[in-house]
Amino acid sequence: MMIDALPNPTTLNGADCIRILGVRIEDVDMQAACDLIKVMIESGGVHQVATVNPEFIIRARRDATFARVLEHTELNVPDGVGVIWAARRQGRLLHERVSGADLLPQLCARGSQYGWRVFFLGAKPGVAERAAANMAFQYQGLVVAGARAGSPHPDGDADSLAVIERAKPHLLFVAYGAPEQEHWLARNLPRLAQSQNGLVGIGVGGSFDYVSGIQKRASLRMQRLGLEWLYRLMREPRRFWRQLALVRFVIAVLTDSRATISI
Ligand code: UDP
Repeated sequence: MMIDALPNPTTLNGADCIRILGVRIEDVDMQAACDLIKVMIESGGVHQVATVNPEFIIRARRDATFARVLEHTELNVPDGVGVIWAARRQGRLLHERVSGADLLPQLCARGSQYGWRVFFLGAKPGVAERAAANMAFQYQGLVVAGARAGSPHPDGDADSLAVIERAKPHLLFVAYGAPEQEHWLARNLPRLAQSQNGLVGIGVGGSFDYVSGIQKRASLRMQRLGLEWLYRLMREPRRFWRQLALVRFVIAVLTDSRATISI
C-alpha cells in the first residue's frame, strides 16, 4: 500500500493528527503523549509508539516496510523542528516537539508515581544499565524491570524476549536508532502479547546515551532555537551524511503539492 494514497485522518486516539509527506503524526504535547501512553498501558495488550523526525520521514519514502510500521504504530509523536516547520506549511501549528530524549524521563517520572515496571533495551553494552540506574536515582520509586544492550538483529530476539517476558514491563524503551528499533518493536511486540498485562514499546534513539551521561545533550537554548541537529553535527561530524536527510526533507516538503498553505 502506498502511504501517499492514504487519507489524512483528523483524529486518532483522541488526538488530532496530520500527514507529513505521507507519514501520520499525532498533534500531541508532552502531557497528552504521556496521558495517551498511560491509557494504553491501562487498557492492556501491546502498543507501539514512535518519535517521528525528518530522518524517519525521508526513510519511509524509500522504505515501504518502514512506512508500513509507522502506519501501524498507535502513536507517532512529533520529534524535530523540521516536523513542526513542515506542519506549519500545511497551516497547522503543532503543540510542541516531543522528542524521545524528553519523553523517556517524563515517562519515568510518571512510572515512579503509578508503579510501572520499566525496561531499557539497546545502546552500547553497559549504557542501558547506567541509564536505568540514573532514572531510578532521579525518580525514586521507579521500578526498573531490566536493562540490557541486546541486539537489533533478529538473531538476538529470542534472548531479549526471554528476559523481557520474565521482567513483565509496562514500558519498554528500545534504543537502536531508526529504523532498527521500530522494526525490533514491530517484530517482537506481538510475540509479547500473550505474556503481558499492558505494554507500551517506544523507540527512543540516542536517549540512553544522554540519560546515562555518556553523551552531552544540546543546551536548552539551542534546543529552543531548533538547533539541536547542528549541535549533534558539530559533536559527531560523521553524522554529516545521515543529516543530509534534513536537506532532502526540506526539498521534499517545499516541492510537495499537498502542502499548499504557507503561514
Ligand atoms: N545502537 C545500538 N546498536 C546498533 C546501532 C545503534 O545499540 O546496532 C544504539 C546507539 O548506541 C545509540 C542508539 O542506538 O545509543 C541510536 O542513536 P542515534 O544517534 O543513531 O539515534 P537518533 O537519536 O539519531 O535517533
